[in-house]
Amino acid sequence: MQDLQFPAFEPGWVWLAGAGPGDPGLLTLLAAHALRHADVVVYDALVSPAVLAQAGPGAALEYAGKRGGRPSPRQPDISLRLVRLAREGRRVLRLKGGDPFVFGRGGEEALALVAAGVPFRVVPGISAGIGGLAYAGIPLTHRDINSAVTFVTGHDAAGAVPEEVDWPALARGSPVLVIYMALKHLETIAGRLLAAGRRADEPVAVVSRATTPEQRVLETTLGACAAAAAAGGLEPPALVVVGQVVRLRAALDWLGALDGRALVPDPLGRRGRAGTG
Ligand code: SAH
Repeated sequence: MQDLQFPAFEPGWVWLAGAGPGDPGLLTLLAAHALRHADVVVYDALVSPAVLAQAGPGAALEYAGKRGGRPSPRQPDISLRLVRLAREGRRVLRLKGGDPFVFGRGGEEALALVAAGVPFRVVPGISAGIGGLAYAGIPLTHRDINSAVTFVTGHDAAGAVPEEVDWPALARGSPVLVIYMALKHLETIAGRLLAAGRRADEPVAVVSRATTPEQRVLETTLGACAAAAAAGGLEPPALVVVGQVVRLRAALDWLGALDGRALVPDPLGRRGRAGTG
């Protein structure tokens, strides 16, 4: 660790970094380095307070969150702000939840920096769909179950279920689906998957506030998930995982085990085979 050489955070640069899903321990070393050296941290709504607490004492913290239902800065305004701060000669850390290039508009902001001639670096982060599932005890892939997994958003820029997503094709071709921003339209999305032939008893997990002290996981089924998520009062941000890998949670909920949950050693049964249903 001591010998690691990090790139210098130069004045006038923007670092577009992922903060991971919430647990500050899931920051990359490079993101932690950037937090210590930034003059200003422009962060979004999904960046946890525990992560922001890692910022250096001289860093100004600027909220630029976007979240459904709340007034939020428009995307072009955020990009302009980054450009302006960089031109003032600051070390600008643009910090986003998870990974900046996964459903995070990081690409749009980076394009604006390129257009403005502002030098930048991208620091990847652990996406919620990866780190959050690990904290829920659900492997994204498991040899006996799936050789493919799809990350898909349940929400387009206008807030509707994205029309360009070919749900029937996903239902047929992807044994495991990890759906970001799915809570609001869960009933519609589950309905489309069911209409395309996925079984109503297929396991589903809803993972809320993953990797934070408020993490909650609801195990349900495709047929029941929308009603169960609403009844359970699960709060955003949340991910929805559809697929037989959810059954492994009975064995792999290591976080639950810390609280006394008894783990079932062979959740798939002795033959260990499970199709996509
Ligand atoms: N760039 C982010 C995703 C931004 S889109 C990433 O890579 O993780 C916002 C969506 O991400 C939320 O609606 C939710 O589906 C998911 N998400 C982000 N953080 C989460 C968390 N801690 N727990 C559960 N879901 C989370």
